[in-house]
Amino acid sequence: MEKNSNQEIQKYLSSLPSVDSILKSREASEWLEIYPRQIVIKSIRETIDYVRNSMMKDKAITFSNESIMDNIFKRLTVFMGYSLRPVINATGIVIHTNLGRSVLSQDIMDHVKNVACAYSTLEYDLAKGSRGKRHSHVQRLLREITGAEDALIVNNNAAAVFVSLRELAKGKEVIVSRGELVEIGGSFRVPDVMAESGAILKEVGTTNKTHLHDYERAINENTALLLKVHQSNFRTIGFTKLIDIDELSSLGKKYNIPVMFDLGSGCLIDLKPYGIFIETSVQEVIRSGCDIVTFSGDKLLGGPQGGVIAGKKNIIERISKNPLMRAVRVDKMTLSGFEAVLLKYLDLEKAKVEIPTLNMILQGLNSIEGRANLIYRMLINSYTKDSFDASILEDESQAGGGSLPELNFKTFVVAIKPKKITVSTLENRLRRCRVPVIARVKDDMLIIDARTVQDREIDLLIEMITSALR
Ligand SMILES: *Cc1c(COP(=O)(O)O)cnc(C)c1O
Repeated sequence: MEKNSNQEIQKYLSSLPSVDSILKSREASEWLEIYPRQIVIKSIRETIDYVRNSMMKDKAITFSNESIMDNIFKRLTVFMGYSLRPVINATGIVIHTNLGRSVLSQDIMDHVKNVACAYSTLEYDLAKGSRGKRHSHVQRLLREITGAEDALIVNNNAAAVFVSLRELAKGKEVIVSRGELVEIGGSFRVPDVMAESGAILKEVGTTNKTHLHDYERAINENTALLLKVHQSNFRTIGFTKLIDIDELSSLGKKYNIPVMFDLGSGCLIDLKPYGIFIETSVQEVIRSGCDIVTFSGDKLLGGPQGGVIAGKKNIIERISKNPLMRAVRVDKMTLSGFEAVLLKYLDLEKAKVEIPTLNMILQGLNSIEGRANLIYRMLINSYTKDSFDASILEDESQAGGGSLPELNFKTFVVAIKPKKITVSTLENRLRRCRVPVIARVKDDMLIIDARTVQDREIDLLIEMITSALR
C-alpha cells in the first residue's frame, strides 16, 4: 500500500471522531444499555488512542468508521468478559501448571458450592456449640490416609516448606544435598526459600553424588534439620547417588535431629503396579520415620491448590503455632474441596477413577484410543472435512507439573493437517475460540492428545476445531 503523506495523516487524525461524538452514535446507545458507562468510555478512548498510534507508526494504515466501532465493541466485550475461564487441554500434559494443574470433578465442586454458598462449620464445633478448629476437617483424613500422626494444610507446598523451615530452623543450619537444590518453575528455589525463612543452608555432597557420610560429617550443634527435596522436574542419571529417605531418617534418629522431606507432588497411591517405580508415596515416606513431609494438593494428589505438612505430632504442633500460619491459611473453598478429594482416597480404587488427575494418568491405552477414534470420526464426518487431512497416531504424553518428569506415557493423538490455512494459524485460532483449545504443533501438524480431553468436552472440541478450520 502507498504511504500517506504527513499532511494526509494529519488530516485523518483531525477527522477522527471524538469520545463525545461516538457516545452519541446509535451503536454506543446500544452498548450503554448493556455495559457500564465508564467501561464504554474507556473502550472508546483506548480505540481512539490505538487508531492514532497505528496511523502515526504505519503511515499506510487508515481506519473506516465501521472498523473503529468494531474495535471499540471488541475491547468492551473482552473487558466485560471473564479472563480466567475454562479451556480444553489437548496437550496431553495432565498436571499443566499454566492451565491450572489439577481438574476437580463435578461432585467435588457441588460440595464446595454447598459449603461456600452457606454458613458452615469452618471453625465451629457442633458438638460443643463453640469455636472449632479450621484444620480439623482434613486432619482426620490425612492421618488415616498417610499414616502420619498429625497434619496441617496451608496455601501451597511452597508455603508448607517455608513455614516449616521458619519454625524448625530459623537461625540454624539445614543440611541439604547439592543434588537436590532444585528450582521449581522460577519462583521456588530451595536456596532462596531457605534464605528467606531465616534458615542457614548447609550444602553437602556434589551435584551427582551425595553419601550418608556427607550429611553425617556436616552435623554440628547448630544443625536443626536434615532436609531432603524431591528433584521433581529433573533427574540426574549416570554416575549418581542420592540418599533415600529411609537412610536419612535413620541418621536423623541417631543424632536426634528432625528430618524433613519436601516431596513435591504428594502421591497418595502406590504407582508401582502401573510400572512407575520412581515416585515415593507419602505413606512410604511416613513409614520411613521421617519427621515431617510436605507436598502439594494440586499435583499428583489431584485436589485444589494447597500444601500439606504431615508428620510427628510434636513437630506439627510447633509449626501450627507459628504466627506465619495465619498468613498462609486456606479458605473454606479450598478446605471443602480438599476434604471431598481426601474422602475419595479412603477407597483407593474409587480414587483412581473419580479423581480426574489420577484417572487421566492411569487410564488404559484403549480408552485413550477410543476417545481419539471418536474425535477423528467426528472430524472427518464434519462439514469441514475437505479442508484438512487427519490421522490417528501413537504418541507420548507427560504428567507435567514437575511430576514424574522423565516418564512418557503412551497415548493416542489426532493429527490434523489443514489444507487452506497454515498449522500455526489453526493453532492460533483455536486459542482464540469461544472455548479456547490448547494444542501443540509437531511435524507441521496440529496434535490433539486424547489423554487430557474430557469426554464431555468432545462435542465442544469438534465445534471449535471445525470453526477454526473454516
Ligand atoms: C511443586 C513443588 C514445590 C512447590 O509447590 P507448590 O504447591 O507449587 O507451591 C515445592 N517443592 C517441590 C519439590 C515441588 O515439586
